[in-house]
Amino acid sequence: MKYSIAIDGPAGAGKSTIAKELAKKLGYIYVDTGAMYRAMALYFLRLGLCADQHAAIAESCKNVRVAIEYLEGVQQIILNGENVTAFLREEEVGRMASATSIYPEVRMKLVELQRELAAEEDVIMDGRDIGTYVLPNANVKIYLTASVETRANRRYLELKEKGIESNYEEIKKDIEERDYRDKNREFAPLLQAEDAVLLDTSDMTVEEVINSILTIKEKAK
Ligand code: C5P
Repeated sequence: MKYSIAIDGPAGAGKSTIAKELAKKLGYIYVDTGAMYRAMALYFLRLGLCADQHAAIAESCKNVRVAIEYLEGVQQIILNGENVTAFLREEEVGRMASATSIYPEVRMKLVELQRELAAEEDVIMDGRDIGTYVLPNANVKIYLTASVETRANRRYLELKEKGIESNYEEIKKDIEERDYRDKNREFAPLLQAEDAVLLDTSDMTVEEVINSILTIKEKAK
């Protein structure tokens, strides 16, 4: 049996930063499932589809192949044979991923791949439905969250650091809309699994969060 740590939570809670660090520390594979939803979104955008075209999106899911590879330990997403990793952090792609991840056809395409990865390797997998749906038997489940103000502020500072000017109120509104969609979709919505440990990172440093998770892992053994 492979070991799995599931980290779920809303946008901007710090899941990927924490999961990446932890994976390095433990020598596990980091699986960023958000990037897979972003790759699907890129595929739909390239086909010229809009997020509300459910039937066409469902049909196009039949012809898409998403695979994952690791290059010097960094996850790469291969979309129909092309490495699209560099395109996935674009705002437009993120928006489309949020809007199209509500469709069961999109989710089912990725869940199988996510489960296969966890069956083959020790993983730290982050997303929205990992502890509740993808890996219900994960060894450790963490629900990572922070106040919406903290999450919006982190995002604002992140963009500022990259030299991108943005509007705090707009970021906050965008995060609230994404949270709403993730929590209220019918299929595999974002919610804390019954056996997940809640960590509110609003007043915690990255190091404190990592140490907390390592302690939770020790106890779970
Ligand atoms: O985490 P990230 O922002 O990269 O995810 C992009 C979008 O994919 C999210 O807004 C969310 O709606 C969706 N997602 C999901 N389930 C996951 C991971 C991401 O619905 N397991």
